Amino acid sequence: MRIVVTGGAGFLGSHLCTRLVEDGHDVLCLDNFCTGVPRNVEHLLGHDRFRLVKADVTDYVHVTGDVDLVLHFASPASPIDYLELPIETMKVGSLGTLHALGLAKERGARFVLASTSETYGDPQVHPQTEDYWGHVNPVGPRGVYDEAKRFGEALTMAYRRTHDVNTGIVRIFNTFGPRMRPNDGRAIPNFIRQAINGDPITVAGDGKQTRSVCYVEDLVDGILRFAMTDHPGPMNIGNPSEISMLDLAGWIRDLVGSESEISFIERPTDDPAVRRPDITLARETLGWQPVVEVEDGLRRTIAWFREHPELVRVG
Ligand code: UDP
Repeated sequence: MRIVVTGGAGFLGSHLCTRLVEDGHDVLCLDNFCTGVPRNVEHLLGHDRFRLVKADVTDYVHVTGDVDLVLHFASPASPIDYLELPIETMKVGSLGTLHALGLAKERGARFVLASTSETYGDPQVHPQTEDYWGHVNPVGPRGVYDEAKRFGEALTMAYRRTHDVNTGIVRIFNTFGPRMRPNDGRAIPNFIRQAINGDPITVAGDGKQTRSVCYVEDLVDGILRFAMTDHPGPMNIGNPSEISMLDLAGWIRDLVGSESEISFIERPTDDPAVRRPDITLARETLGWQPVVEVEDGLRRTIAWFREHPELVRVG
């Protein structure tokens, strides 16, 4: 298959590109390097089935030749990134999704939208099932990401209903692994970087808020299984193993073997209290469920961070 990955040089995008090339597909990776970096796909650059093009899908998506699948993964995705880039985030979620859908429509390709557990906001239903409509504050600081993704979902369904495009929506829950930017501001890279550097580990609020964290390899496998079906979604992809941020901080500190102290910092506005995917749909439809133990994933991620001291030291 010939596959276009928008945001292909980002954290998830680069892992998707790698798997797709390994599986024998032709991959065109588009990225404007707003939060992604060419280094993430450096290992693929010499490959004759991989091409990296600097492009901003918010402006236009220009691709020549056949396309079988469009994976639309372009977007700032960590809270500090989208708080710093609120308008870019809304533009790529709206105009970028419009352009990527237009490409899929024109080429008769399947389209997969990388949506998010953030569409559930600060959820009042737990765990979250796909039929839950969510609890999002549109005018809070996180609204730029949450609402852009919700708009993207609505637009994707409009293209399906109006133009008969073979679309699919995946809702991605917290994911971690190698190639996360150690300074991207998310809990896991922050905790690992702080533990390695012996700096205080910053836990927001009282640390009782929970997330359910999935190792990237499992996530990529779930997404690609979904992409190869004609399922419209939305489908949750994530690991239901739920943990509080305080416990996660202690766990990472132990795995790193660090003596960092825990430092409690202010909780961000509208920070969701809980999050856990109900993955019954993915289990039944794709026969998929995470297989990497969170501890094993954390060990592999810590090992990668240790191999990149230049990134970890910059902070
Ligand atoms: N968090 C934290 N310390 C940090 C960064 C994040 O305690 O240094 C908390 C954050 O407030 C949230 C959780 O960790 O409750 C997960 O945040 P993250 O940014 O990883 O992703 P989110 O799920 O909020 O998009």
